[in-house]
This record gives sequence, structure tokens and C-alpha cells, in this order.
Amino acid sequence: MQNEQRLNGFGSLKAIFFDMDGVIYDSMGNHSVAWSKAFAALGLDFPLEQVYMNEGRTGSSTVQMFFQEKLGRKATEEEISFIYDRKSQFFEAMPAPVPIIGIKLLLERLSREGIAIWVVTGSAQELLLEGLCSDFPGLVHKEKIVSAKDVRFGKPDPEPYLMALRKSGFRPEEVLVIENAPLGVESAKAAGIFTLCINTGILADEILWQSGADEVVKEVEEVERLIFKE
Ligand code: MG
Repeated sequence: MQNEQRLNGFGSLKAIFFDMDGVIYDSMGNHSVAWSKAFAALGLDFPLEQVYMNEGRTGSSTVQMFFQEKLGRKATEEEISFIYDRKSQFFEAMPAPVPIIGIKLLLERLSREGIAIWVVTGSAQELLLEGLCSDFPGLVHKEKIVSAKDVRFGKPDPEPYLMALRKSGFRPEEVLVIENAPLGVESAKAAGIFTLCINTGILADEILWQSGADEVVKEVEEVERLIFKE
């Protein structure tokens, strides 16, 4: 199997680029509720499945996508701020998302094995970004995070992953991306990186395969088994 051959080549693995929401934190439930409530404040319906389909976009891109698709026009700067500010308020008022089961053990093992850890996220949520370094001390470092604040286009554009390649100095073949969302997979694949998907959300595996994932698994443990060939 082509994927197995490629995964067996992970002897040259030097870094893993992690997506954050749905990969490091079990945060997508909170994001979904927050987005739905924010759109509802304008009388607009943003169904749960659509939140998951659009996961990875920056906040403004999410609002723009919705306006184009549902209302057939661009959102104004005021509308983007109105909705995104509310989304952030709703999100921050909720209980803090917990780490995905097994993720800390994986990060610790990678660190022991000398494999670099980078985070590449479409999020700009201050609390989550700040929490990363304090929740995973010595494992996640501020200078190894590419967030929505660093990019112009964001996922599904390859920009965020290309930026992580440039900043880290690794070549695509030395890196593995771990994603959970279709647009994140598209972004990583367009940057030329092998992409493993953990399906922690509500979408069918088929949607993740269709977005170009090289492998789709259910749990972090399976990721660990694939990387370390156990
Ligand atoms: Mg994600």
C-alpha cells in the first residue's frame, strides 16, 4: 500500500505540524455553538455540519464564505467584526476545551525522540493560543506556532503550512501534518506535505479522504502506532 510505504519512510521524519482545534484540543463543539449563536444574533442559521466543513478558515473568511453562499453578497467589515466579536465572546464564556485524549503523551514522546513540534492553526482565539504553551510546557513553544494572525489567506490556501515550512527550515518530505478538517487537509496537501487525519468530529471519514488525506484514523494512539511502526 502506498501509504504504508510512505509511512515506513518516517525514519526521516524531523517535524510534525499539528493543527490545533480538533487535534490538540477537543474544542470544535465549543466553536460550533459559538458560531451558531453569533450568526443567530443576525437571524442567520449556520448549521453544525457547515461549521465542521469550514473548520480551519480564519474568522473573517468564515463570515465571508457564509455571506457569499447564503446571501449572495460580500460581508461588510462591520458585519465581519460584529459576528466574529460575538463568536469570540461566546467561545470565551464557555468552559475551557480539554486536550484530545492521548495528545500530551504523543507530544512528550516526539520531544524525547527529537522530532520538532509545530502548531499551524486558523484560530486567533487568544485564550487557546496562550493556553497552548502553558498546557504543554516545554513541548509547544510560542515561536513554533503559525496562527491566523500570521497569515493573509489561511486554510484551505497552502499559505499557513508553507509559512511553517519556511520558518522551520524543514523540507516537505521531512514533515508530517496532523489535521482533522477537510480544508486543513487541502491546505497541507497543497503545501506538498504527507497528511494524516484524526477524525475527531462529526464528518464522515469519506469527506476527509476526498479532501486528499493520506491516512484517516480515529484516535491519537493510532497516529502513534503509525509513526513508530508499532
Ligand atoms: Mg482542526
